[in-house]
Amino acid sequence: MALAKRWNLLNTSFLIGTLALALTLVPWRLATSGLRWSEVLVCLAMVFSIGTAISGGYHRLFSHRAYKASWFVRFLFLCFGAAAFENSALKWSSDHRMHHRHVDTDLDPYAIKRGFWHAHWTWVMEAKALPVEGVADLEKDPLVRWQHRHHFLIGAVVASLPLWVGLATGNLAGHLVFGVVLRIVLTHHTTFFINSAAHLFGSRPYTDANTARDNWLLAPLTYGEGYHNFHHQWQWDYRNGALWYQWDSTKWLLNLLNWMGLVGGFRRVSDAAMTRARLHMEEKRLRERLSLASPGSATPMKARLEAARVKLDAALAALHDRHEAWGQKKAEWRAKGHAKAEAWREVKAEWRASLAAHRQELSAAWAEWRAARLEVRSALVYS
Ligand SMILES: [Zn+2]
Ligand SMILES: [Zn+2]
Repeated sequence: MALAKRWNLLNTSFLIGTLALALTLVPWRLATSGLRWSEVLVCLAMVFSIGTAISGGYHRLFSHRAYKASWFVRFLFLCFGAAAFENSALKWSSDHRMHHRHVDTDLDPYAIKRGFWHAHWTWVMEAKALPVEGVADLEKDPLVRWQHRHHFLIGAVVASLPLWVGLATGNLAGHLVFGVVLRIVLTHHTTFFINSAAHLFGSRPYTDANTARDNWLLAPLTYGEGYHNFHHQWQWDYRNGALWYQWDSTKWLLNLLNWMGLVGGFRRVSDAAMTRARLHMEEKRLRERLSLASPGSATPMKARLEAARVKLDAALAALHDRHEAWGQKKAEWRAKGHAKAEAWREVKAEWRASLAAHRQELSAAWAEWRAARLEVRSALVYS
C-alpha cells in the first residue's frame, strides 16, 4: 500500500520490466542465434521513426507549435509517437510545457536539481499525478483527442509491426527481442537523456538563465534534440540544431516534408539574434574573467569590450533589418510582375551596394570585438 502511494506501479513495472527483459533477452539471443541483418534494420527503422515522431511531433509540433502540419503528418506522428509508450501527445505536451514554464524550479516536473535519475526517469515512476493543463489549443484537434483516448491501443498496434516481419521471415523470436523489447528501451532512454544529460553536460552558448545545455554528442542519439540550450532560449523554433553543421535529423525531415507541401509555417529565430545572444554570453564570461584582474587594468578593458559589443550588436541588427527590407522589396516587385525591368535593375544595384556597405561595417565591428577579446585573454594569461 505504502509502495503504491510512492510509486506508480504500472509505469514503474513497465520501465523496469522492459529494461530487465532487454538486458536478459538480448544477450541470450546473441549467444544462441547471433544477429541477423533484418533484426538490426527493423530495430533501427522503428527506433528512428518512433523517436522522430516524439521529436518532430510530440515535441516540436504539439508542445511548441513550431510549425503547421497537414492532418496526414499529424496522424502519422500521433500513431508512431504512441508506440514510444510515453503517454498521449496531450499529456506529454502538458508536462513538457510545464517543464519550460517552470524550468529548474519545484514546479518543473523533471527538474535536474532533484538529480540525474529523477530528471531521467524516476519522475515518471512517481505516483504523484500531474494535471493536464495549458493545452486547450491541442484539445481542439480531433486527432489529438482521438490519440489521447486510445494511445495504449494505437501504441501496441504500431509497436508490434516488427512481429509481422518476424512472421514473414520465420523469425518471430528475434524480431520480438530486437524490434519490440530492445526498441522500447532504446526509445525511452534516448528521450529521457534530453531531460537528464542535456540539463547537465554540455555548453551554454545562448543563455545561462537555466540549466539546459547544447550537447553535440547527444544530438545524433536524440534525432537532433541535443542542442537543448538553443531550444530553451527559442523553444518555438522548429530547429534544435540551428547551425548548418549541427546534427538535426528531425529538422532535415521537416524540411523534406515542407518541400513535399505536407508541413509549413516554420518559426525560426534570426541568425542576427542568435549571434547577439552568443556575444552577450561571451562578453559575460570575459567580464567574469576580468573580475580576477586588478581594477586599474580591468576597468578600461571592460569599457573597450562593452563598446565593441555594442557596435557589433548595432551592425548585426542593421544588416538584419536591411535583409528584411530587401526581402519585402523583392516580394513587392514580384507582385508587380517585374513590370519595369530597367527600374528594377537599378533598385537591385542600389540595394546590393548598401548591403555591401553594411557587411563591411559588420566585419570592421567583428575585428574590433576580436581585438578586445584578445586583449582580455592575454592580459589574464600574462598578469
Ligand atoms: Zn529541458
Ligand atoms: Zn521543449
